[in-house]
Amino acid sequence: PADVETLGRSSWTLLHTIAAQYPETPSAGQQSDIKQFMGLFSRLYPCWVCAEDFQAYLRRDPVRAGSRGEFGKWLCDAHNDVNKKLGKPIFDCGLWEQRWRTGWKD
Ligand code: FAD
Repeated sequence: PADVETLGRSSWTLLHTIAAQYPETPSAGQQSDIKQFMGLFSRLYPCWVCAEDFQAYLRRDPVRAGSRGEFGKWLCDAHNDVNKKLGKPIFDCGLWEQRWRTGWKD
């Protein structure tokens, strides 16, 4: 299996890219899909200690998916929870769209 770091980087790329494409005004069905997807993802993620902690995170802070901005912020907070646990720098969630959707402005 892929090592935990490579798997993690690839997975965050997938998740943040899904958030970047999530509608600004999602239908009830789209909101339900993303919540189900995150729940299933947390059960199938092939790093079992990671998966257990992520399931616990979802119980503490259930998916918020009322808009792209809301889901992007929720996911950024979830990623920061893992960053904190691993002693990595906390990412500024105000920069989430620039990192994952629109590209950096400078
Ligand atoms: P990553 O954390 O993979 O981040 C990739 C890029 O995303 C960064 O370079 C940065 O540009 C950007 N970024 C960073 N933080 C944020 C943020 N908050 N919001 C938006 N963008 C951001 N590893 C373990 O060892 N133990 C675990 O329990 C564990 N749990 C995980 C749970 C999940 C659901 C996932 C997807 C991964 C988990 N990982 C875990 C892997 C870990 O999070 C990292 O992916 C891995 O350590 C590689 O880190 P990295 O430094 O390359 O950057």
